[in-house]
Amino acid sequence: MIKKRFIAGAICKKCQKQDVIRWCKNNDTEQEWIECVSCGYHEDKPDEVMNAEHPQPSSDGIVNIVRFK
Ligand SMILES: [Zn+2]
Repeated sequence: MIKKRFIAGAICKKCQKQDVIRWCKNNDTEQEWIECVSCGYHEDKPDEVMNAEHPQPSSDGIVNIVRFK
């Protein structure tokens, strides 16, 4: 199963657009990568992007906690 989530504020290295980068993780293989929904750019193990921008929306954890209760 592949989880996909937009990275808030992330800018694509190729097309320089904002809020077009999705972080993806395959839970079966533990592979992680990012992809741009605008130009199709993708990169494995996006440490640079994840560290440079906010890695997760601040509301993400809160939403999960609420749903699990
Ligand atoms: Zn792009």
